[in-house]
Amino acid sequence: MFISTRRLLQVFALIEVMCLAHVSVEVVEAQNRAIALRSGIWETRTIPVCWENPTEANRQGRDWVQEAVTETWQKHSQLRFMGWNACAAYNQGIRIYIEETWPHVKGLGKHLNGIPRGMVLNFTFQNWSSSQCRQRTEFCTKALAVHEFGHALGFAHEHHREEASPACQKEAQGVSGDFKITAYDLYSVMNYCNPKWIGNGKLSALDIVGLQTLYGAPQPERIVGLSGALHFQLASGAAMRADRQGSLYTMTRPYPSGTLFQVFIINHQPAYIYTFGFDRLEKTYRIFPHTPAHSAYVDQTRSQLVIPDEAHYVSIDDTVGTDYFCVLFSHQKLDFTMVLQRIEEASGSFFTRLHTVMGAELVLERNIQYAEAGDIGFTATRQERGVVPLIVAIEHTQ
Ligand SMILES: [Zn+2]
Repeated sequence: MFISTRRLLQVFALIEVMCLAHVSVEVVEAQNRAIALRSGIWETRTIPVCWENPTEANRQGRDWVQEAVTETWQKHSQLRFMGWNACAAYNQGIRIYIEETWPHVKGLGKHLNGIPRGMVLNFTFQNWSSSQCRQRTEFCTKALAVHEFGHALGFAHEHHREEASPACQKEAQGVSGDFKITAYDLYSVMNYCNPKWIGNGKLSALDIVGLQTLYGAPQPERIVGLSGALHFQLASGAAMRADRQGSLYTMTRPYPSGTLFQVFIINHQPAYIYTFGFDRLEKTYRIFPHTPAHSAYVDQTRSQLVIPDEAHYVSIDDTVGTDYFCVLFSHQKLDFTMVLQRIEEASGSFFTRLHTVMGAELVLERNIQYAEAGDIGFTATRQERGVVPLIVAIEHTQ
C-alpha cells in the first residue's frame, strides 16, 4: 500500500504583495477592519518553516528569527514551527526569502502555505529602513520577524481597525482582517502606531489573547516518559485531519488510490521511532527506518522527521480497504524486522495483532494522554514500560 513517489513541482500564482512600511501615506478607506483574516487561520498546529536562500553569511539572522518566533508565537500557544532548514522545491508551510528589501508577506496565514518567497525578511538594512536598524540588526531582525510571523498566522494590521486614530489608519496597508478577536490594541506587534516600534517585537497581553483564541494556550509541561505528534499533509499542502476513538485515530474522509502525502513526526523527547503500514492483505510495510541498517534513534527533540523523507511522498496504492499507518515511539531499541514479521504471523485485527506482539512492552493506556481537536499526538508518563503506538486508519477508495 505504501510506495515512495517523487512529486511534480507546482506552479504558484503570484498574489498581492503586502509590505511593512513606515513612510507610506497611502490613503485607505476606514472600513470595519479587524485583527485576523478568518480564511487565513491554519488548521494545523504544526507549521513547517524553511529558508529559500540560507548561507553562512545569513546564519546569524536566521538564528535570531527562529529564536524570536520560538520565544513569542510558539511559546504562548500550541503552535510548533518545524524545520527551519533549507527549502526544497516541494516544501510546504512558510517559505522565507532573505533579501535587502522591505520585509513583507505575500498573503495572510495559511494563504502563504507553500508559496515561494511567501515571506521576505531583511537582515542587513543597508538600503531599506532607518539607519537605526543598521546599528541594531539583532533588535530589528527579531522585531520584524515577530511582526511578519503575525501576518503568517493570519493577523492583519491592528492600526487598520476603525478604532485606531485616522492618522494610524492611513499607515501603509495590506490585506485587512475580517475577524475581530480582541478590543483594539495600541500595544500590538501588529500596530504601526504602537508607541514602541511594532512593540519591540514583544507580544502584548492582547496579542497573546488573540493568539491563544486561534491556536490554543500552551499545554503545561509535565515530566513525561514519551511524547510525540504526527502531522499528515497531502502533496497539495492541505492537512489530512483525523478523529480519535480511544487510542485509534481515523482519517475524517477516505482517500483514493494514488493519493500522495507526507507525514511529519514531531518527538518531544529523544526516542527510537519506527514507522510502518499494514493493509487489508495483512502485510506490513516498513517505512522508517528504511532498512535495518538505518538508525531509528531520533535525539533531536522538538524537531521534525519527514516520512518517507523530504524528497518523497507516501502513495496510497490500489489495495482498497482500510490502511493502518503506525508509528512506534520507544524508550528502547526494538527488533523492528521481528516485530513486523510477528504482526504478519499473528491473527485478528491490526489492533489485536499489535497488542499480541508488543503487549508486554506497551505503555498502559491509562498512562497515555492523547491529543484532541484534530491533532494526532500523545503524552505518556514515565514508567518501566516503554512503547507507545500512534495508529492512524486511512479508509481508501478507488
Ligand atoms: Zn505588516
